[in-house]
Amino acid sequence: MIPLSDAVLSGYLEESLPADQLIEIEQRLRDDEELRQRISGVIRDQELGIHHIGAIWRRHRLSCPDREDWGRYLLGVLDPETERYHRLHLEQVGCRYCAANFEDLREAHRSQQTDASSSRRRQKYFETSAGRLRNG
Ligand SMILES: [Zn+2]
Repeated sequence: MIPLSDAVLSGYLEESLPADQLIEIEQRLRDDEELRQRISGVIRDQELGIHHIGAIWRRHRLSCPDREDWGRYLLGVLDPETERYHRLHLEQVGCRYCAANFEDLREAHRSQQTDASSSRRRQKYFETSAGRLRNG
C-alpha cells in the first residue's frame, strides 16, 4: 500500500498519479470512511469549494459502465477491449456499485432463462396431453 499523504491525495484528485495508484486509492476510498473525510478536507484546503466534491464523485461514478453495458458484458457481446475494461473495473477496482448492478442483472438473466425453459416445458406438456386427448 502506498502512504497517503495529502500530496498523494491531491495527485489522486488531479488524476496525476500512475494508474495503479489511482486504482488503489479508489479502492481504498470505497472502503474507508476516514479516508473519504480526509480527501474532502484536501478538497476544502484546495479551496475547490464543497460543490466540487459532488462533481468529483460524479466523475468517478461516470467511469463506471452503465447498466446496459453490464447487460452486454453479461451476454458476452462486447468487443474484447471493452470487455477487458469491464472485468478490470469489477475485479481490480472492485467497484461495489457495479458489482451489485452486475449481480442483479445476472440474477434477472438467470430467472428469465428459468422462466423461459419452464414455460417451454409447460407448453410441451399441454401440447402432448392435448394431443393425447384428441387421439385417445
Ligand atoms: Zn463501477
